[in-house]
Amino acid sequence: MEQAVSSMDPLILSIAEAEAAARPLEPDRRQREAWLGSAARLAGERLDRLDEHPTYVPGEPVEEIRRWPISEQGRTFDEVLRIFSTVVLENGIDAASGGHLGYIPGGGLQASALGDYLAAVTNRYAGLHYAAPGAVQMENMLIEWIRDLVGYPASTAGYLASGGSLASLSAIVTARDARASRGERIARSVIYGSAHMHHCLRKAIRIAGLAEAVRRDIALDERHSMDPAALRECIRHDRAQGLEPALIIGSAGTTDTGAIDPLDALADLAAEHGAWFHVDAAYGGFFMLLDELRERFSGIERSDSLVIDPHKSLFLPSGTGALLVRDGRLLLDAHHYTANYMQDAWHSGDELSPADLSPELTRHYRGLRMWLPLMLHGTAPFKACLREKLLLTRYFRMRMRELPGFILGPEPDLSVTFYRLDTRDPALADVANHRLAEAIRADGRLFVSTSVIDGRVFIRLATLSFRTHRRHIDLLLELLREKGREIAARYPLRGAPERTPSPDA
Ligand SMILES: *Cc1c(COP(=O)(O)O)cnc(C)c1O
Repeated sequence: MEQAVSSMDPLILSIAEAEAAARPLEPDRRQREAWLGSAARLAGERLDRLDEHPTYVPGEPVEEIRRWPISEQGRTFDEVLRIFSTVVLENGIDAASGGHLGYIPGGGLQASALGDYLAAVTNRYAGLHYAAPGAVQMENMLIEWIRDLVGYPASTAGYLASGGSLASLSAIVTARDARASRGERIARSVIYGSAHMHHCLRKAIRIAGLAEAVRRDIALDERHSMDPAALRECIRHDRAQGLEPALIIGSAGTTDTGAIDPLDALADLAAEHGAWFHVDAAYGGFFMLLDELRERFSGIERSDSLVIDPHKSLFLPSGTGALLVRDGRLLLDAHHYTANYMQDAWHSGDELSPADLSPELTRHYRGLRMWLPLMLHGTAPFKACLREKLLLTRYFRMRMRELPGFILGPEPDLSVTFYRLDTRDPALADVANHRLAEAIRADGRLFVSTSVIDGRVFIRLATLSFRTHRRHIDLLLELLREKGREIAARYPLRGAPERTPSPDA
């Protein structure tokens, strides 16, 4: 015995040394509190002074992250925060700012950030029910909350994904398997969408191995919503050729114009032709919380699958999308792997697990960042905020009608609208509008993005961040008036009095 213990001594010693050297990984309470204090000060400063920081800083990062390589020796927390601040926070688009009016902003709720902190510190494994029953039930409960909002039946299953793109990929894979689009059949399968369908779905179709399927971009009406008569005619034509309508993709709020497709008519056609009906509600979905808009989404409850992004119309920080599939068993069939036992679990009504419904195994416990703000605030402030966004969109459009020289897009369904300077020479219109968007971005206080709609460059206004308020819209109007006048001096507007042409006009 004596002998054995003494021969262990060097080992015990080495373990103790290694443990001591690893100790910085487990800060004591004093240190933890100091770190939290520093992080909270940095975050607090950003939040208190959002309007003073630029919303957009164009160009390359001022400082380069590689100047601070990962090395053997660590640095102080405050130094690390300084590096983060310099390298990350001083450039690009500030997506936390209410001045972010481009693409589809959300803002990033403070309560979600704290949910993320708690999820990371407690590190519950939210992949499998048995490992973290409460965490998995919480995520499933959030899916049920969306299910009831949409009007899907009890057979629904779904999960919280990292975003709309990954959720869409899962939806396409589920549709592919459910409709047995494989092998030679793929080339006979037809996928219907519109020209304004989000590009993540085109990506998903390719990744899912359906690149050889026939794809149809159905014509849009004057409000950029899919024309159901054109879809009917296209399906009729395809069937006459021996093709199989496999998948119809509708949008409940397109990114470009916020238009909602005629979902009821799409559901009718999908039912008539045995096609899977998928709805992309990534941007627009949570506007369903508003009674006054509910009718506009009619038919969404008849879809087979649905993608909705809490990091857009529920204002969460980036990194949360959701997929719901009406017949949950089909989602399970498409994603489970070793979990044959899950088939029984399904019958016995046990809780489903994200690991069996999604491509992920070990995953971020996303539920907390969504549950915490909903529990804390209730749904009332979310509804009020969504209503504010709709009203701000209407306000912007009313005020724009008083601003000469602009063409305004049609009345939107939701909170995205678009406009352009109307130049006298149509050939110069696109470049003039690019210049105007650049001039607004160069000011730095607001970020706007452009798109090509009906073949022409438009500037979009996407009012969705929970931090966007009337003062941001007023600032945009002021910038449009001021910068619009400058641009008009170089690119004369239609209806404006003739003046000496500028050198490059
Ligand atoms: C943003 C968006 C997507 C893609 O979702 P991500 O969360 O960005 O991956 C899909 N469809 C629409 C309509 C969107 O607005």
